[in-house]
Amino acid sequence: MTHAHGSTGSSHAKAPAGAKGSPIAIGTKVVMDEAGLASLITLLTKVGYQPIGPKARDGAIVYEEIESLSDLPVGFADEQEGGKYRLVAGTKGSFFEYLVGPTSWKRYLFPPTHKLWGAEQKGNGFEIDKAKADVPAYAFIGVRSCELNAMKIQDKVFGFGREDNNGAGIFSDPNYVARRSKALIIAVNCSRAGKTCFCTSMGGDPHVKEDQGFDLALTEFAPQQTHEFMVEVGSERGRLILELLPYRAVTSHDTDRAASQARKARSEMGRKMPPDIKDVLKRNLDHKRWDDVASRCLSCANCTMVCPTCFCSTVQDSTNLTGEKTERTRSWDSCFSVDFSYIHGGAIRPETKSRYRQWMTHKLSNWHEQYGSSGCVGCGRCITWCPVGIDITEEARVIKTTGK
Ligand code: SF4
Ligand code: SF4
Repeated sequence: MTHAHGSTGSSHAKAPAGAKGSPIAIGTKVVMDEAGLASLITLLTKVGYQPIGPKARDGAIVYEEIESLSDLPVGFADEQEGGKYRLVAGTKGSFFEYLVGPTSWKRYLFPPTHKLWGAEQKGNGFEIDKAKADVPAYAFIGVRSCELNAMKIQDKVFGFGREDNNGAGIFSDPNYVARRSKALIIAVNCSRAGKTCFCTSMGGDPHVKEDQGFDLALTEFAPQQTHEFMVEVGSERGRLILELLPYRAVTSHDTDRAASQARKARSEMGRKMPPDIKDVLKRNLDHKRWDDVASRCLSCANCTMVCPTCFCSTVQDSTNLTGEKTERTRSWDSCFSVDFSYIHGGAIRPETKSRYRQWMTHKLSNWHEQYGSSGCVGCGRCITWCPVGIDITEEARVIKTTGK
């Protein structure tokens, strides 16, 4: 894989026939059609990116490698509720009417399993095989506004954009930082909100804001006579790419359509989180609701696997049968597993009650002290993918209305 940095053409790249209007800059909005979007995917591959985008597979929308427009989930929408997810027919020909599914971009920035290093016996000594320094340059296509917020949260956890200060014990995760630096982000604004969405009560919005860290952001105009996408430029990288694609100038009709789509999505938020939940939880660590939720929770960890901000991991060493090779691997783990809280002699959170309370109070309360924000972006995945339909917003509401 070649690196994509600097390979998208110079700032003097000539726009092809079809490009109109004044020169584009960061913040500029233009409109492209389906052919333009097809060219974008082709161009990304040509300049060395691996496009990752939405696909309909096994009854859900997942983020996987894509090669062309035909890989996108054409005409699909979804229905979501506590413990329920269904793909349904959406607007004919639409690409992005679905909402967030069970995968999130974290699997590409913080992979579920990752080799940290290995070692091989050589004579009387051994050689260390450091993890491959080269990482893929992904182009993420279809990143939602809540997912951009989730990336910003994980950036803080893994130290992306932060100076290391080893003397003070501050280290960044080199693999995350390398993947994140290379990743190109093509966001997509939500045309609707689902019954499990509550991004607006976590400080988010269904439509991206210019400071959220995207390279390009698309607003899909549902196919009528034409199928078009308003494209906003969010970075220099995005600008260089857009310069190589056909587009037309934006009109007030286009911006009005996008604004009305955003208003509609905001009005459809299916859930909400109490604004003062951070302090409510701190006051209610002994609330009887923790017993109630523990009687329903299976401790299956689904909620943490689908959550785009959860980052618990474990490290395992394995050795081959001859004892000549060994490797250390990091894998996703969960605060819902008993082993995760095992400290010599026993687990400090042996009951589901303490594990659920740990997850929810960390996510919504202690996270503020650690990272300066909530750990929840209101994507609703943990509600949809909980097999028994436990709803973080409902647990929060009950504790707030019946607690101290
Ligand atoms: S806690 Fe639930 S709603 Fe919040 S970010 Fe994680 S999965 Fe999404
Ligand atoms: S809250 Fe739901 S998804 Fe999370 S561990 Fe419990 S049963 Fe599993």
